[in-house]
Formats: sequence, structure tokens, C-alpha cells
Amino acid sequence: MLQVKAKKHLGQHFLTDQGIAMDIVGLLSLHGNYNKILEIGPGMGVLTQYLIKNTTYETWAIDIDIESIVYLKKNFPMLENRIIDGDFLRMSSNDLFGKEKFAIIGNFPYNISSVIFFKILEEMRNEVTEIVCMLQKEVAERLASPAGNKDYGILSVFLQAYYDIEYCFTVQEHVFAPPPKVKSGVIRLKRNDRVTLDCDEKLFKRVVKQAFTNRRKTLRNTLKPMNLGPEFTVDAFFDRRAETLSVEEYITLTNSIAKII
Ligand code: SAH
Repeated sequence: MLQVKAKKHLGQHFLTDQGIAMDIVGLLSLHGNYNKILEIGPGMGVLTQYLIKNTTYETWAIDIDIESIVYLKKNFPMLENRIIDGDFLRMSSNDLFGKEKFAIIGNFPYNISSVIFFKILEEMRNEVTEIVCMLQKEVAERLASPAGNKDYGILSVFLQAYYDIEYCFTVQEHVFAPPPKVKSGVIRLKRNDRVTLDCDEKLFKRVVKQAFTNRRKTLRNTLKPMNLGPEFTVDAFFDRRAETLSVEEYITLTNSIAKII
């Protein structure tokens, strides 16, 4: 059988365990009632085959590697023109399904997984109602961590503002060809009901990023470069550290900062 040679710069690690592939596809819960699913980085189609076999969704797949595209077109002729030869990072929701709801699935290229999430958040969060994906384990854990946990970070806050995130299971290195240097984690994200943040979104991002510049320091210290003034930060609230604040608390903080700057 034709094989695609793994290309390191494209983050290619092909999953070889069929049971795990089936379990990943089985995590799709139809949250948000989508009919279409986009697989990012299908590679040799280990997940794609179960999307076709075990689900009734309209499956689309996008890969940047022309060798994968040729392989997929040959092996999954039933997908016809739903195999997209391209870079997910250059797609807009208009290039995809317009305003229609859809889900995303994938064993993401680990080197760009954060960029993929930023893109979904900024450009497609109202269309993408569910995401099931595999990532580097540490990143998966970080994204799914609740406030108060040492793994909770900037992207956790941004993503959890719009998605409820569950850590589903861990995948060992040896079930990939070639094996990655790190363990992997599978997470599921479900779009929550939040329509907007109820605060200046740009300022929210600035506040969260600034707060996390040093996890060990109090907000009073980390927010200093924003020149909020000593009276503003006198409150005991500013004794807290970035990782202890929930999304709601970041929204409240952003609104009170907006009033004084
Ligand atoms: N899903 C397959 C392959 C995972 S490897 C499996 O589990 O075996 C990651 C895949 O993402 C590769 O096929 C790689 O070519 C693809 N990829 C990397 N960067 C991409 C991008 N920007 N857009 C779309 N696909 C990309």
C-alpha cells in the first residue's frame, strides 16, 4: 500500500492504533447540532475512515501536505471534492461553510496547535460548536485546567470564555509512526452560551496577558505596567495571582480597569 512519508516540519505523527482512532471519533457528541465536520490534518486518514464508517456527518478534511491529499483522494473516493488541499491557518469561515455550524476534529500538528485555537476563537467561534482533538499532553491539560490550577494559563482563559473543555484521555508515544517525543492528550471542547464577553475584548486580552507575565507575583505587581495607580490596586483582590481568577473575574476586572484608563 502507498505510504505517506512523515514530514517533521508539518508535525506529522501518524496514529497507528485503530482503537484509539475510533475512541477519538466516538467523542463527537453532536453538541450544537452540526451536520458538517472538518478534520484538520487527516494525514493518512486514520480518523477519517471512522468519520465515514461510524458517523452520519458530512465529512470534510483539510491537509497542507499534497502527498496526503493524493493518498486521501485515492483511498476515500466517497469524499469526492470534500478533501481540501490547503492550509487551515489561511482558511476563513467563508471559504468553509459560511455561517453554518460545524465541528472540528483532528490529531493536530502539535507545533501549531495554539495558533489553530487562536484562529478558531477569533474567526470561527460562532460557527464551531464542538472540537475534539489530540494535542501534546501538557497543552491539552493546560487548556482543560480550571482556575486555581497551576496549569491554568492565558489560552485556558481565552478558550474557556467560549468553550467548556474536558480532558478525555492520554495517548502514549508508541502508537504513532514516528513516535513523538511527548505524550498526547485528547480533549473535547463544547461551545458555551456566551455571545460576547460583556467587556472590551481587546482590553480583556491585554489584562489577562499582563496578569500572567509572572505566575508567582500578585496582580498588584504584574499589572503595574498598566499604570492603574496605587489607590486602584489597594484592594485585597490584588493580592491574588493570575491563575486564581475565573473568566468571570477577568471580565469584572477588565470592566473596572476600563473605567479608569
Ligand atoms: N490525523 C492523522 C495525521 C496527524 S499528523 C493521524 O492521526 O495519523 C498532522 C497532520 O496535519 C499532517 O497530516 C500534516 O500534513 C497536517 N498539517 C500540518 N499543518 C497543517 C496546516 N496548517 N493545515 C492543514 N493541515 C496541516
